[in-house]
Amino acid sequence: MKRLLVLAAAAVSLFSANAQTFPGTKPISFVVPFAAGGPTDRVARDLAEAMRKSMGGGANFVVENVNGAGGTIAATKVAKSAPDGHTLLLHHIGMASAPALYRKLQYKPLDDFEYLGMINEVPMTLIGKPQLVANNYRDFENYIRANAGKLNIAHAGLGSASHLCGLMWQSAINAKDAMTTIPFGGTAPAMNALVGGQVDLMCDQTTNTSGQIEAGRVKVFAVTTAKPLSSNKLLKDVPTLQEMGLKGFDLTIWHGLYAPKGTPPAVLAQINAALKLALKDPEFIKKQEGLGAVVVADKRVEPAMHKAFVASELSKLKPVIEAAGKFAD
Ligand code: ASP
Repeated sequence: MKRLLVLAAAAVSLFSANAQTFPGTKPISFVVPFAAGGPTDRVARDLAEAMRKSMGGGANFVVENVNGAGGTIAATKVAKSAPDGHTLLLHHIGMASAPALYRKLQYKPLDDFEYLGMINEVPMTLIGKPQLVANNYRDFENYIRANAGKLNIAHAGLGSASHLCGLMWQSAINAKDAMTTIPFGGTAPAMNALVGGQVDLMCDQTTNTSGQIEAGRVKVFAVTTAKPLSSNKLLKDVPTLQEMGLKGFDLTIWHGLYAPKGTPPAVLAQINAALKLALKDPEFIKKQEGLGAVVVADKRVEPAMHKAFVASELSKLKPVIEAAGKFAD
């Protein structure tokens, strides 16, 4: 209770000190690079609610889904938006994977954005349609090999987390051309196709897959993290890809918040403070944890730390994608 009161008091002072200037009455738009109802959209909607509270309830947030091209259309839009704090990008690992996949990107991740802080980390799961005959990872991999050329893997566009995971996995099992890739505007529509049996498999964040796995609407074969998810009730016994012999396989998705380059420092400081407070909101934390995500520690919400992390992911992912990859224009 005491903690909640402290958060509320901090929120009120944060908002009232700047009430005359930012955000005023104009809404703050979270541009989400994928379809409504998917994992990135879900983080954005929950965070918008937590930040509305952390800004004293006076700020209006809207979520704008700008799907397509693995998140690069949304990132381009925000990079070219007015730098006034009213248009923000909520993006995931695609911020760091796109430069290795797209030859003609219209933005530079490290030059064209202000970094506002990381939000969370989310493991992924390798899942299949309910009709698949395999019931464990080994049988699943054998099934993939036996049916090379006949299967479809869904993803959310080149450079999306699901695409990246699929690329890395197919490369790790030496089955690069065993499947046809089917792009969707996000993994919410891709999940519908999987549950309906129109596509065969997908790799996606637990924030989108947990509910479907629990309800038995999809089959889960592996988690993508280096260590098992031992504290996750639903997924604690699901093997990691490393345990299944894929040496070094380790993929965790992260989300962060960005503003267009040139946004005034006072506005950035205000959004960063509101973000830090929102990430301590027990309701937000509970929702995230319930879906297998981990909210990041305070120091990772520091803009400099966030930027340094994205820079390290850019260098880490480039050779991985080049080794596994197919490219886009
Ligand atoms: N999970 C998605 C991805 O694969 C995107 C989404 O949030 O819909 O990148």
